[in-house]
This record gives sequence, structure tokens and C-alpha cells, in this order.
Amino acid sequence: MAAEVIDGKQISADIRAEVAEETKKLIAGKGVTPGLAVVLVGEDPASQVYVNNKEKACQEIGFNSFKHVLPADTSEDDLMKLVDELNGRDDVHGILVQLPLPDHINEERVLLNIDPDKDVDGFHPMSVGKLVVGAETFVACTPAGVIELLKRSGAELEGANAVVVGRSNIVGKPAALLLLSENCTVTVCHSRTKDLGAVTRAADVLVVAVGVPEMIKGDMVKEGATVIDVGIHRTDDGLVGDVAYEEAAAKARAITPVPGGVGPMTIAMLMRNTLEAARRKAS
Ligand code: NDP
Repeated sequence: MAAEVIDGKQISADIRAEVAEETKKLIAGKGVTPGLAVVLVGEDPASQVYVNNKEKACQEIGFNSFKHVLPADTSEDDLMKLVDELNGRDDVHGILVQLPLPDHINEERVLLNIDPDKDVDGFHPMSVGKLVVGAETFVACTPAGVIELLKRSGAELEGANAVVVGRSNIVGKPAALLLLSENCTVTVCHSRTKDLGAVTRAADVLVVAVGVPEMIKGDMVKEGATVIDVGIHRTDDGLVGDVAYEEAAAKARAITPVPGGVGPMTIAMLMRNTLEAARRKAS
């Protein structure tokens, strides 16, 4: 039977519509309009696209959006001052500093300066620590999107064998923690994992974030698995993921395409986190 294609575009649109609805209620009930500040330093073209997409999503949903574009030679101290100012503003509920920052700026220091109550990107060590201990917190948007795709595509998580390939701080590790909190039995693989295929073949739920084009082949996928491909690569044949899609789809119960799988979820989850930040402030 052909695998179900998990439609990230549709699921993302559904979430954004839900957030827009809840935003109307928050404005009507409490007089609070969620506000997201996005800070971009420099002129990296990919970052410019991301920032513009975030601004557009805010406008469509009914949030206030505050875009701060700073020159590439902005000093770390000036960026820290801007973050201080945004931390202090009542109309800003979420702050996102677009990464990567120019080399002369210490990314860790800047992220640490964001008020954890406004850390809608979920990268502050306080947010990460809360995730580890299972407390309520802002979860990084891409791994949060992965879990949402699994839930909304009907994957059985309770007691499932979940394998995460990749252990980065922004995707692999938080995805593993979230799967653990969904009561999966979780294995995390990385570049030193021995016999990767033997591990992935045991996965009922396989989340792949390795950054290597089409590395996970069909014979590494268990019959009936749910496969979430976080990877995205531009090749001569178009965009591909970290999973060899056709081969894996022949084995899987359900699978995300690239593009149109995990990608569109990131902004939807950012919007949801920003709404949540505004709600917490309002109450
Ligand atoms: P990183 O490069 O930070 O991490 C890659 C991870 O994969 C590392 O843990 C590494 O292991 C592991 N790895 C690399 N090679 C192998 C291998 N041969 N076998 C097993 N494990 C391996 O990547 P990210 O987590 O940042 O991103 C992963 C992918 O997801 C990329 O393609 C990226 O473009 C995409 N991405 C997509 C997003 C979206 O919104 N759709 C958002 C973020 C990322 P080790 O730790 O040992 O080095």
C-alpha cells in the first residue's frame, strides 16, 4: 500500500488558522495583540527570506510584528542593548534573533540575554532546561513541528520505538526529549553510531535530521514506520531531504515530503509560541 504523504503545508495552514482564531479571542477578551519582534543582523539572503516570511505570517494571523534590520557591522553591545529594549516592551511578547549572527558577535551571549518569557524560538538555556525536566516551556519550533506532524498524522506514539538520527541542539536533542515525553522509547543516533541501519530498522517512528542528502535508504526503514524528514538540500534535481523519499515511501506507513513536510511547520509553531507568550502575559 502506498504511504500516506504527511501534508505539512496543510497542517501548517490549519495551525495558523487556529492561532488566528485564538488571537481574535485574546484581543476581544483581554485587549492584548500578540507582538513578535524579529531581529536580523546583516544581509544574508536566506535569513532575509526567513525574516520576511515571519513578518508576513504575523500580518496574516493578526499579530503585531516589529522588524529590526541592523547592519552587518553592528557591535555585540548594540545588539545586546536592542534585546534589552525589546525585553522591556509591553507590546513585544516574543523575540527572535535570526541566526546565524555575524562572526564578531557571540551568539550564546545574545540568546542568553533574551527574557525567557519572550524566548519563542526556545533556544534559551532556561527553555532547554525546562524541556529536560518536563516543565512547561517554549519548545524550539522545528522539533515542535515534528511532534505536531506525528500527532496529526495519526502516528501511535505511546510505547513506540522512536529513533532520532542527529543530535543537534536545535533539532535532534529536543526532538528526542519531546518523543520521550510522549512516552516513546527513544534512541538517538549520530555520526559515531555503529550499524545505523540496524537501529533505524527497529524504528516505528523515524525522525531524520542529519544534514546529508538522501542518506536514509529504503532498506533502513521498517515496514509500516512513520518517517519524518527534517533535512532540506538544494540539488540539481531540485530540493531533497535526508531520506531517499521513493525508497522509504515504499516501506513506510506515512512519510513527510521535501519540500512541503517539516519546512512549513517551523513558522506555524513560532506563531503558536508567540500567541502562548502573549496569553501568559495577559493572564
Ligand atoms: P547538524 O549538522 O547540526 O547536525 C547533524 C547531526 O547529524 C549531528 O548530530 C551529526 O552527528 C549527525 N550525523 C551527521 N552525519 C551522520 C551520519 N553519517 N550518520 C549518523 N549521524 C550523522 O544539523 P541540524 O540538526 O541543524 O540539521 C539537520 C538537517 O535539518 C539539515 O539538512 C538542515 O538543513 C535541516 N533543518 C531543517 C529545518 C526546517 O525547518 N525544515 C530547520 C533546521 C534544520 P555528530 O553529532 O556526531 O556530528
